[in-house]
Amino acid sequence: MAMFRGSLRLKTVCVGRNFYKISANFRLLSENESSRRVTSTAPEPTGEHLIYTQEHFALKESLRKLIEQEINPHVDQWEAEGIFPAHKIFKLLGNAGFLGVNKPVEYGGLGLDFSYSVAVAEELGNIRCGGIPMAIGVQSDMATPALARFGSDELKKEFLLPTIMGDKVACLGVSEVGAGSDVSSIKTKAVKKGDEYVISGGKMWTTNGTQADWMCLLANTSDGPPHRNKSLICLPMNLPGVKVARKITKLGMWSSDTAEVFFDDVRVPCRNLIGQEGMGFTYQMLQFQEERLWAAANVVTTMDNIIQETIQYTQQRKIFNQPVLYHQAVHFRLAELQTEVECLRSLLYNAIALYIKGNDVTKLASMAKLKAGRLARELSDSCLQYWGGMGFTSDVAVSRFYRDSRLISIGGGADEVMLGIICKYMDTLPKK
Ligand SMILES: Cc1cc2nc3c(=O)[nH]c(=O)nc-3n(C[C@H](O)[C@H](O)[C@H](O)COP(=O)(O)OP(=O)(O)OC[C@H]3O[C@@H](n4cnc5c(N)ncnc54)[C@H](O)[C@@H]3O)c2cc1C
Repeated sequence: MAMFRGSLRLKTVCVGRNFYKISANFRLLSENESSRRVTSTAPEPTGEHLIYTQEHFALKESLRKLIEQEINPHVDQWEAEGIFPAHKIFKLLGNAGFLGVNKPVEYGGLGLDFSYSVAVAEELGNIRCGGIPMAIGVQSDMATPALARFGSDELKKEFLLPTIMGDKVACLGVSEVGAGSDVSSIKTKAVKKGDEYVISGGKMWTTNGTQADWMCLLANTSDGPPHRNKSLICLPMNLPGVKVARKITKLGMWSSDTAEVFFDDVRVPCRNLIGQEGMGFTYQMLQFQEERLWAAANVVTTMDNIIQETIQYTQQRKIFNQPVLYHQAVHFRLAELQTEVECLRSLLYNAIALYIKGNDVTKLASMAKLKAGRLARELSDSCLQYWGGMGFTSDVAVSRFYRDSRLISIGGGADEVMLGIICKYMDTLPKK
């Protein structure tokens, strides 16, 4: 019965929200190596999937068409330009319902559970770079969970609804020049004056920062203890005193714009506060759970694709009278890597199955994020090796993945931060 209701709701929403139409007339994909589609080795829709139903697979299929038609043909150009048109792409995704699958229907979402967001994150891994999926993830699952959960109706109408519909681009302002891993030590202040907050300080590493219409900002709203003095505030980026200082040049994630932003006495109405004052640190820690699960789901698909492309390349490339692939060191290594990917997928699905039933999965989400970052580094390095000199060129997906995936062990909580959380749950940290 529950399954029938879910299916009915998805169908209803699909019709109502112009769910992306599966066209028989697909644009031919570019012959360029880095935009070529490769069949994923992800589990097929069998009806026996651990967390996915036929509705999840329908959602994935629909998104795949959109990616193939509207995104992948342009990825090489956007990578070269160091930015992608966020408003245009988010509008396409928003129209089709992909920016708020687990958000409430009254604010433009599809009202489904978080497993559908994971299905979307997985499918976004088929985009031929890491920067665009990351930017989409910020919009759908990193800047908005706290607003959806704790924001007032008025605030959700003003910021959440247009973000889900793709009319506004969102960014997340947590990290600062002097505070990344140690979120509690941020310095940006929001001082209450009358019915306004006056904000001063700055944010660093802000994804979507040069294009964003609003920021989910973490700021200190009192001088109290660091876990009780912070608040999340919806900050329009066009207010006087908001200055996007620069677009940061990076090792990878080229098509995603990353900004440094300053606030010089920016005045924001107090009604832009998300939930309760002083609860921002807690809300952000909760928001991080979905971000970390999202990141692990997103990279699993790309890892499948990179292994498949490496198999295809090494099968046709001959050395010492036989394909590179037929050397035991190569096919054994690829088998080891695929096994590791399956372990990560199982951990992820286990965490999601528990999360959608309302359990605290902080430990499992941290483990999945840690494993995703480390495996991506190992896998991209090993696969790139088997491409020889070709792997060192910028024309192939494996070299882009090598650059882009390095971020996973740093952003959204570095590996060591994940280890600290896991140790806390294992009760192995030194007693104070
Ligand atoms: C491309 C990109 C996009 C980003 N997007 C956003 C965004 O949209 N919004 C946002 O708020 N932030 C964003 N970030 C920031 C990101 O989350 C931070 O870079 C990350 O949290 C690490 O902080 P830091 O860079 O200040 O490193 P630091 O905090 O200075 O840490 C340096 C290193 O110390 C090590 N370390 C950390 N903790 C421990 C420990 N307990 N024990 C031992 N070693 C430890 C880790 O190896 C870590 O990499 C982005 C970063 C990048 C590079």
